[in-house]
Amino acid sequence: MKTTEKQNDMIRGGQFIVRDTKAEDVFTPEDFSEEQKMMRDSVKEFVDREVWPKKEEFEKKNYALTEEIMRKAGELGFLGVAVPEEYDGLGMDFVSTMLVCDYISGATGSIATAFGAHTGIGTLPILLYGTEEQKKKYVPKLATGEWFGAYCLTEPGAGSDANSGKTKAVLSEDGKHYKISGQKMWISNAGFCDIFIVFARIEDDKNITGFIVEKDLENGISLGDEEKKLGIHSSSTRQVFFNETKVPVENLLGERNGGFKIAMNALNVGRIKLAAACLDAQRRVIDSAVKYANDRVQFNTPISKFGAIQQKLAEMATATYTGEAACYRAAKNIEDRINLRKESGNSHQEAELKGVEEFAIECSILKVAVSEDIQNCTDEGIQIYGGMGFSADTPMESAWRDARISRIYEGTNEINRMLSVGMLVKKAMKGHVDFMGPAQAVKDELTGIPSFDTPDFSELLSEELDMIKKLKKVLLMVSGAAAQKYGTELEEQQQLLLASADILIEIYMAESAILRAKKNANAKGEDTQKVQIAMAQLKLYHAVEKINEKAKEAIISFAEGDEQKMMLMGLKRFTKYYNYPNIINLRKTIAERVIEDNTYKF
Ligand SMILES: Cc1cc2nc3c(=O)[nH]c(=O)nc-3n(C[C@H](O)[C@H](O)[C@H](O)COP(=O)(O)OP(=O)(O)OC[C@H]3O[C@@H](n4cnc5c(N)ncnc54)[C@H](O)[C@@H]3O)c2cc1C
Repeated sequence: MKTTEKQNDMIRGGQFIVRDTKAEDVFTPEDFSEEQKMMRDSVKEFVDREVWPKKEEFEKKNYALTEEIMRKAGELGFLGVAVPEEYDGLGMDFVSTMLVCDYISGATGSIATAFGAHTGIGTLPILLYGTEEQKKKYVPKLATGEWFGAYCLTEPGAGSDANSGKTKAVLSEDGKHYKISGQKMWISNAGFCDIFIVFARIEDDKNITGFIVEKDLENGISLGDEEKKLGIHSSSTRQVFFNETKVPVENLLGERNGGFKIAMNALNVGRIKLAAACLDAQRRVIDSAVKYANDRVQFNTPISKFGAIQQKLAEMATATYTGEAACYRAAKNIEDRINLRKESGNSHQEAELKGVEEFAIECSILKVAVSEDIQNCTDEGIQIYGGMGFSADTPMESAWRDARISRIYEGTNEINRMLSVGMLVKKAMKGHVDFMGPAQAVKDELTGIPSFDTPDFSELLSEELDMIKKLKKVLLMVSGAAAQKYGTELEEQQQLLLASADILIEIYMAESAILRAKKNANAKGEDTQKVQIAMAQLKLYHAVEKINEKAKEAIISFAEGDEQKMMLMGLKRFTKYYNYPNIINLRKTIAERVIEDNTYKF
């Protein structure tokens, strides 16, 4: 196939809402190559050996331990997986980089954060926007763990409004360097890093500009004390003060005024990787929880035999299975885009940037969904342990505290929810994805006579995929009508945007779980995937319920009279099951497998 034909055929970011995806077209964790499986196993072995046994030590604010583990990870090549070989990295594909991030992050949020801050926002801006000289000078050191990176965007007065920072960069009279002055806060890895990616404003520029700043404490740089935090206790988080710090002009990153773009694009990668970073933590929580539930006896019965505990284990496993499905589906879409761009002549840099940017909607969706799933998973983990779950002597307590940060950094979940819908609307307006046609078709369908035929659902998961199609109509109906009513003022209607985002997120996650189960059932036989199919069905049921709630909330808030009535009828039609699944049985099927395996093994 020619590159342009491939381009037309290949799914675009956000397009899942208006396009049916076939099961055979998604990548699933079961599709990992032998090389990827080897990488996964070696990362897992490293974490089991070096990190998991020291879990308690990570609660004692042992920053040196985090640095030591990071250095060892560097020696094994894990810090350079996303870095091309010419800069001393392993030059692995995007899916493999997700895999490493996933499995290295499971034991403690301290390592997850240090790894994410270093390999993502601490290294990527140079790799993606740096000049050849900058890349040659800094990237090999960062890829091997000889040096560590940190990312200084947030300031006391500039958090979510990241472009409003007050840090200044003033060009010297001889034009050879900038003097940077300002205060950055919440900087991960600040205590042990060697370079900072710093964002500062030059003169009265509209946007901030990025700089690479070496950490020389003799050069006007000072650090605040380690922050006292709820979780990630051995992740170094400090304020960083710059007082006329001299930075050579050749260390300006990208273009003047272009820092906001760098910051946002680095965050796109950060978001999908953060979602991946929550996956193995969920697997480990389930593993501990089910082992405890099988051992703990009350009323002369292992508590895993109780329906109340089985319900929790089933929900935890389902969320994890769904998160894996969605993360690796999106990762492969990104990888395919990157490869297509490379084929059409883009540099690695350009291809990677544009490839990830294309799927920024999915990156935000995943960040929100998986960071909330891990919160629920750890919370239920504590509940399964009962009083022992509240004790710092068990792994649940720290897992729960560590999970909490994921909803805040890399853009809060509120910001990411609004971004996901905002970006979808922009794509529609730019004509990158045709939403108008399908939205009009839904409108026409609402005023038309509904079909009373009972569809043929004999094919595996066909009713579920039909439901996904209908849920997409709900999104088009609600967001289409809201956009028509509010026009450019839609962005002021935050509660509507949040409701639309929840609908969008539920669709992507549920569709991913169904497609994963279907693909594997087609390939390996339905009998082998009974539990996975049950998980896909359970996830879909939750998605339908949530979408019903959120869409109703939106419709009764912005539509009135006949329009409201018509949309509520549409909502009923588009969320109607022909055959309800038996939710209690689904949970039983899932829990029984987890209990029998005594771990999460999907
Ligand atoms: C442990 C930790 C590590 C971190 N690491 C780094 C790092 O390495 N580098 C770095 O630069 N930063 C880092 N951060 C900062 C982090 O990215 C910010 O905390 C985050 O972006 C939120 O900014 P804020 O804390 O100023 O909250 P605010 O922006 O003040 O937000 C407060 C609340 O208001 C909401 N809100 C804000 N604006 C809007 C809006 N327009 N509409 C609706 N709701 C809104 C938010 O969602 C949130 O609920 C870290 C933070 C922590 C806690």
